[in-house]
Amino acid sequence: MAELMRHEVRRWAREVKGFLAEAEGLRLFELARECAGRAPCVEIGSYCGKSTLYLAEGCRLAGGYPVISIDHHRGSEEQQPGEEYFDPELFDHAVGRPDTLPCFRRTLQRAGLEEWVIAIVSDSARAGRCWPDGPASLLFIDGGHSEKAASADFEIWAPRVVPGGYLCIHDIFADPAKGGQAPYHVMQRALRSGGWSLVEQVETLGILRRRDDAP
Ligand code: MG
Repeated sequence: MAELMRHEVRRWAREVKGFLAEAEGLRLFELARECAGRAPCVEIGSYCGKSTLYLAEGCRLAGGYPVISIDHHRGSEEQQPGEEYFDPELFDHAVGRPDTLPCFRRTLQRAGLEEWVIAIVSDSARAGRCWPDGPASLLFIDGGHSEKAASADFEIWAPRVVPGGYLCIHDIFADPAKGGQAPYHVMQRALRSGGWSLVEQVETLGILRRRDDAP
């Protein structure tokens, strides 16, 4: 299935700044292609648009809905000055905070995928509270990685996923020595709820499916 992705988009996706492995991106592409005809795919955490490209290319091939990609574009906790993932190229000196929106827009424009993405520039929880309904066929959680941010994203957005739809969570590390635990805790919580089944894990991308008989 991955061969359906346009070569130039796949090459560009590799070059875009970001923290998503190609195998993870290709799986997102396949899932979006499978389900984007039913309802929109929702992405939390756009950053510079690497994962958005894979999702949007899948939506384009499905002829379905565009991706809804939500990010305040001011960088998450670990991307602030002095933190581990700070990138001076993405820093807005006039404001004194990162600004990833120009990079994100360039990514989509260069891939010819602007019309397949609806960008929402907002904190994800606030956007979710303003958009109380609306089904999603796929939810990709890759926003703030604190326990508070990750669990709010799950609580606010996951109930919108349609039966048979997907919940994808990035940065799953079962071993605390390898990475932060908040995404892993969200995945465990989803599985314990009985509403989701584990499909597979591709590198650090956890993929769950909403059960048809979800409580
Ligand atoms: Mg991530």
